[in-house]
Amino acid sequence: MAELTPMMQKYLETKETYPDCILFYRLGDFYEMFFEDAVTASRELEITLTGKSCGLEERAPMCGIPYHAVDGYLNKLVAKGYKVAICEQVEDPKQAKGLVKREVTRIVTPGTNLAPQALDETKNNYLMCIVYIADRYGISIADITTGDYFVTELEDSAKLMDEIYKFMPSEIICNESFYMSGMDLEDLRNRLGITIYSLDSWYFDDAICRKKLLEHFHVSSFAGLGLEDYDCGIISAGALLQYLIETQKNSLAQLTHITPYTTAKYMMLDSSTRRNLELTETLREKQKRGSLLWVLDKTKTAMGARLLRKYLEQPLIEKQEILKRLDAVEELKSMAISREEIREYLTPVYDLERLITRITYGSANPRDLTAFKTSLEMLPSLHYILEEMQSPLLTGIRGDLDTLEDLCMLIRDAIIDDPPLAMKEGGIIRDGYHEEVDTLRRAKSEGKDWLAKLEEEEREKTGIKTMKIKYNKVFGYYLEVTNSYKDMVPDYYTRKQTLANAERYITPELKELEDTILGAEDKLFALEYDLYSTVRDTIAGEVERIQKTAKAVAALDVFASLALVAERNNYVRPKINEKGTIDIKDGRHPVVEKMIPNDMFISNDTYLDDKKQRISIITGPNMAGKSTYMRQAALIVLMAQLGSFVPAASANIGLVDRIFTRVGASDDLASGQSTFMVEMTEVANILRNATSRSLLILDEIGRGTSTFDGLSIAWAVVEYISDTKLLGAKTLFATHYHELTELEGKIENVNNYCIAVKEKGDDIVFLRKIVKGGADKSYGIQVAKLAGVPDIVIDRAKEIVEELSEEDITTRVSEIAVKDHDSRKKPKTKKYDEVDIAQMSLFDTVKDDDVLEELKNMDVGNLTPIDALNAIYRLQNKLKNRW
Ligand code: ATP
Repeated sequence: MAELTPMMQKYLETKETYPDCILFYRLGDFYEMFFEDAVTASRELEITLTGKSCGLEERAPMCGIPYHAVDGYLNKLVAKGYKVAICEQVEDPKQAKGLVKREVTRIVTPGTNLAPQALDETKNNYLMCIVYIADRYGISIADITTGDYFVTELEDSAKLMDEIYKFMPSEIICNESFYMSGMDLEDLRNRLGITIYSLDSWYFDDAICRKKLLEHFHVSSFAGLGLEDYDCGIISAGALLQYLIETQKNSLAQLTHITPYTTAKYMMLDSSTRRNLELTETLREKQKRGSLLWVLDKTKTAMGARLLRKYLEQPLIEKQEILKRLDAVEELKSMAISREEIREYLTPVYDLERLITRITYGSANPRDLTAFKTSLEMLPSLHYILEEMQSPLLTGIRGDLDTLEDLCMLIRDAIIDDPPLAMKEGGIIRDGYHEEVDTLRRAKSEGKDWLAKLEEEEREKTGIKTMKIKYNKVFGYYLEVTNSYKDMVPDYYTRKQTLANAERYITPELKELEDTILGAEDKLFALEYDLYSTVRDTIAGEVERIQKTAKAVAALDVFASLALVAERNNYVRPKINEKGTIDIKDGRHPVVEKMIPNDMFISNDTYLDDKKQRISIITGPNMAGKSTYMRQAALIVLMAQLGSFVPAASANIGLVDRIFTRVGASDDLASGQSTFMVEMTEVANILRNATSRSLLILDEIGRGTSTFDGLSIAWAVVEYISDTKLLGAKTLFATHYHELTELEGKIENVNNYCIAVKEKGDDIVFLRKIVKGGADKSYGIQVAKLAGVPDIVIDRAKEIVEELSEEDITTRVSEIAVKDHDSRKKPKTKKYDEVDIAQMSLFDTVKDDDVLEELKNMDVGNLTPIDALNAIYRLQNKLKNRW
């Protein structure tokens, strides 16, 4: 029987250990892939699939990539969600006895990729670990490129989704119970592009997780880490740590801290609110330009840009914390000259967080170190300017900002100003830093003189005046003689190579010289590499100081950016209250005002409180500015709570715990939901999860169905929200159902507002001003005309509208009495399993089809008892997680 070649046997042994990875197997100057991996990689990377004899009858499918171009291919595979194991030759092939020893040195996955080309420097690259144990979720999140490492625990799947949307990890690892819990993982994969898989159960062993964490952080108890109350969180963080140890195969020195957090510390924002408010990217084009981040981000460093994004993604809810941030912004706003000086010093500062990670990994090149030095050179000046600052956060930043002069000096002394990228080809160490380096360098340059002398001597000895000593990598040094002088070459010359018009020779003397010169060069390169490594490792040993300083620099950059934006855009410092009153005078939409030329944006007031002004029903023609007005209020609240000044003449913001938005209509065909279904799912989510401290932005409810159904739903929703015993959340509610204006007067905390327009003959002029009262017309036909709908359609629409009388419905609506909810209790947020099956709506039943389908298709006869148990567990969880 045919047998595999020894090399193939070794390959397959390695592959067996990493079955879920594509194995890049180093063979000489290539990384080769075989069998299934080769088929996958050749398809995904569009490279040629060939074959290699492997001892068996059939050749093994094979494809390969040159080692020097590995990064591009690797990043491409990882971006597509593959895990790649890199198997290197770990001994010098020249010294190897038999097959060269090879080992997997690193596994690269979407959440652990360190390659700068694969990363967006303004975003973190998070890996998230989720464990689901006894109805609780333990979550840990790490960015190994920056050293961030967080942990928390949650009780329900809706909050878990909020966290996933907040961090947007590129990879999620989880335990089997979460994987089988019925959460829609396909949706996360397809829509958000997150790679998700479950890990073996040993990763989640409580005792091992605890041991690994304590060992890594060199502590004896979890109290020291602030994790004593995080049982589930510890398992999650421990499993994540083990996964990183497995994949990175190094000490993970950049993970110096683990930070526990509770979601209660931050404003909750669900995924649709984040999208609708266009916090970090626009709804349609998914671009930064046009988002709130685009307006606020004037940071100078990558670290600052990432931190600002974090601030935006998790606004605060504690007044004192917000005030501290506002103090810092105010101080930097008032000290314009110092601020500009700070921003200038920040400009040359590189990404210290990611640089230090590369340094701890030993992958930083000499140019990284000089970039690091350039950054450190700015620190004393930043520290000096901060001395004049008084606000607590800025003085705190000064305290944390270590000027790191020792490290700066070390690099300055050891490394030349403009070193090469390569670490092993010399030319890195500064003259005068190390005596032996200087001596070897001299030998190298004197070697040139020796060569010149020998050349001269040989010319004289042989009479060949044109003879030259030359060098190439293959033959080393040689004497080149053109053909016309060939006959004059003496016997002691040994021919090395024949060219068309010349011959190349060596002599014993030249060989000796070559050994001395090249030996000096080899020694020099090795010594320079050693010295370089020592400098790099010395810096790596200071990782904690550097990370702390990097965080201080990031925060300074964020506050300077917010201050600059506040000044340039004429923002004001908001007051913060805990009484629930939102009082904005002359508010503006921070993004729309930037898009409109010549300061044409019309400002508007907003007033909401917990008493008689809880709900504003906003009517007005299409295109009048209702959506803009409502989003502007939400954004101003959000900006205030993240610690920014706001676009208004004045603002007093009553803290809100959550902002919810229900905006516009969109199909979500990817997840199998129709427009109206999406709308109602969002409404359901809001009504179930909002509290009396939340701010709701409802832009049209009930438009996706018939007028009567839609109006009735919208009416009932306003009743529900306005009732303080049921919900009582502050709400801006825009609608084209003018009948809803009937609610003013019927419900004491509902008020009507409309956006004014002026009629000019057949046309309308948008005034963009919000005024008390309700509108009675939508001017839809006029707007359709403005949009360019053909005249023939417009004229016919006018005829029809005249024939249709709205009188009937309006009269009937005015007769509806508001339902007294006193007798009802606010329903708890229900989980799906608490809902009476008989009460399930049509939509629920439709959604259960896949569960039934799975049951129907189950091959019961062939199920083992354990399979059956697993299947029941999975199906039950699918049902539980519907709500
Ligand atoms: P529809 O009912 O059709 O959804 P709408 O009333 O919600 O319309 P918006 O989408 O808010 O209208 O506004 C339409 C456009 O009007 C905006 O894109 C913006 O260009 C402009 N606009 C809105 N508000 C203002 C304002 N306060 N000042 C100047 N221009 C504004």
